[in-house]
Formats: sequence, C-alpha cells, structure tokens
Amino acid sequence: MQMKRETLAIHGGSPVRDSLLSYGRQWISEADIQAVMETLRSPFLTQGPKIAEFESKIAETAGAKYAVAFSNGTAALHGACYAAGIGEGDEVITTSMTFAASANCVRYCGGTVVFADILADEYNIDPEQIRAKITKQTKAIIPVDFTGQPVDLDEIMQIAREHNLVVIEDAAHSLGASYRNKPVGSIADMTMFSFHPVKHITTGEGGIIVTNSEEYYQRLLLFRSHGITRSAALLEKEAEGPWYYEMLDLGYNYRMTDMQAVLGVSQLSRLPEFVARRREIAARYNHHFAGHRLVVAPQQREDRESSWHLYVIQLELDKLNATRSEIYRALQAENIGVNVHYIPVHLHPYYQKLGYQRGDCPVAEKLYERILTLPLFPAMSEQDILDVLQAVDKVLAAYEK
Ligand SMILES: *Cc1c(COP(=O)(O)O)cnc(C)c1O
Repeated sequence: MQMKRETLAIHGGSPVRDSLLSYGRQWISEADIQAVMETLRSPFLTQGPKIAEFESKIAETAGAKYAVAFSNGTAALHGACYAAGIGEGDEVITTSMTFAASANCVRYCGGTVVFADILADEYNIDPEQIRAKITKQTKAIIPVDFTGQPVDLDEIMQIAREHNLVVIEDAAHSLGASYRNKPVGSIADMTMFSFHPVKHITTGEGGIIVTNSEEYYQRLLLFRSHGITRSAALLEKEAEGPWYYEMLDLGYNYRMTDMQAVLGVSQLSRLPEFVARRREIAARYNHHFAGHRLVVAPQQREDRESSWHLYVIQLELDKLNATRSEIYRALQAENIGVNVHYIPVHLHPYYQKLGYQRGDCPVAEKLYERILTLPLFPAMSEQDILDVLQAVDKVLAAYEK
C-alpha cells in the first residue's frame, strides 16, 4: 500500500486515469452483432425460434428442466410470484440489501413484503431471521444471491419444506455460480436471471425463470402472454375451430423478442469466459485487500462459488477523516466509477409510507453506511484493475487518521 499522501484529483491533483471507468458494462462481440443481424433479416422478430433456443440453453446451464424468458428480470419475478400464487394477504420474506425489484414483485401481486435482516459477514439473508419472520400468512421466500455469492440454499430449502413455502431465488447476480457444486438454478423452486447490460450476459433488457416444476412452467407461459393459451390440454371449453384460443386469466405482454434471444444465445456461449474473468479480477482485489487497514474485503463461503457480479468493499470509517460520500466523490474524481449497492429497500419513501421503518434491518442498515462497489466487468484490462487499486489506496491514504 502506497502511504505517501498525493494530492487528490478532487483537490486539484491529477486523476489516476483520464477517462471514467464504469462499475459494470456489457461486452458485445462481432459474433453477437452478426447473430442479431441475421435475425433482423429472418421472418421472426418476436415469438420465433430463438426464444425456445435461448430458453433451452439457459435451462441446461442452470441445471433445470424448464425456462421461460421474459422482457426483463423484474417481469420474470412478477411471473414467478404469480406462478407461486401470491396474492392479497400473503406474506413473502426477502432481504432489504437488494434492488427494489426483489420486493416490488410481491407488491405487484398484492402481497405483503417482510424484510429479514442479513448476515453481517456474508451480506446475504440470514436464515435465522427468515425463521423468526415466518407467520401463518407466509407463502414464499425470495432470497437474493447478493453480488453473485449464492445464499445458503440447503438451509433455506429446508425452512421452506418445514413451512410449505415456495422459494423464488433472485439470481440476477449469480448466473454461472454454484452452491455445493450444484449450479444456481437447479435448487430453488424457481430461479430468476436478469440480462440487463451490467449483468453476466445481456439481451439489452431481458430476464428468465428456470424451474423443474411443470405446473409453474405452464403458469409462467400463460402469464407472459396475456393469460392466453392454445394448448388443447388447458382449454376450458371445446375448441370452436383451428383458430381457437382462450384467455384463462389476466396476464401481461411480458415477452422477449427474437432479436434479444439471439443475442442471449450468442452471449451465453461466452459465459464461462466471462465468469472466469470476473473471478480473476475478484481474486486480484481480494489479494490486495487481504489484511488492508482501511478496507474490509467481501467474505466468501467455502461451499459456494460466486460468479462475482459486484465487488463490494466496506470502508473502516472510524479510521478515516472522511465520510463514505466524500470518499465516493474523491474516487469519482480519480475517474473510478464506484457505486453503492444497495440503499436498503425498506428505507425508500414508497416502503416507508407503507410503514417500514429504519431499525427494521439493523445489520443491512449499518452495512449500507460503509459500502462502496468497485468496477468489475470481464472487459476490464490489467491497467483498469491497477487503476482501481491505486485510486482506492491514494484516496484512503489521503484521509487516513
Ligand atoms: C438487475 C436486478 C433485478 C431486475 O432485473 P431487470 O432485468 O433489470 O428487471 C432484480 N433483482 C436484482 C438483485 C437485480 O440486480
């Protein structure tokens, strides 16, 4: 660690790098572009053959039987809550240390969100807190694999079996990760992946649910397309002719296009390479921050292999003469695009108006005050990694007490 105090860019010094390094970004290849062009010239822009191909390839990657692609990950979570039968009066337990969508999907169905606190070292939902929050109204659990490290799936599935709950794993961060040598997607009742450009692979916007349940699969298909079916086995009345279809329930238009699906297929072929590079960068960061005086590196459990969507550090603020906000701004001035993941969901005005309060999840709230997300994406160069580490040390050294 370089302890010489250099003039920070925010105080007029020269920045560590000339252009802003974002915290996450997609990596589109010529092959990806070619694949999308071919679909643009094909008869199908949507509801064509590429959706099924993408779905079966994701199902295979995740070790699940079925997959249903959606227009985005949030729509996919909405579909999963519908398939699980969440409605008015039902309670669903999730974490507050997540993106709002993990909780919002419950609200779309009229259900009540119950926030369980996180483990202080792992940052994932605490299974003991889940147990403590279960009531007669509890219907489901939505655990989130925060930053790409899977939650304790065996323990959570055990709790769910004891109380007859559905587990919908929000795996927006953990495509390609594994838990006790099983791929994420092969364990929970339903698992959601997102294909937003900052995630492991992208379709622009996009999401998917994987499941081993035929029943959930059928409900997801229905929900994605207006609640309409042509499947003879599902029709309630006799078919009036070959054109016949029925709307069985109120669904949405949450379909993915073929242009997106073909991009997904092409991107998915590089997933192993993307995940390997993310792990390599995280290992570099871990090595640098091991035993660091001013930074707490994220802890990983031995029985899980993270796919490293995010690299989140904790600042030892009691050893620094600066707030997290000042350090954030100083790093941005050095052209390091740090971020904060996440503002605890229950602290947002919408949830506060519903009655959730500061103090509901003390561990998540305390963690939030101390965290910063460092840039992490597969296309980062060696120099990018060195710039991040140099800038963090430069800024922290300048503020060290
Ligand atoms: C990205 C993300 C989502 C939602 O995905 P979209 O595809 O952007 O709708 C849900 N949960 C978490 C934890 C996410 O990071």
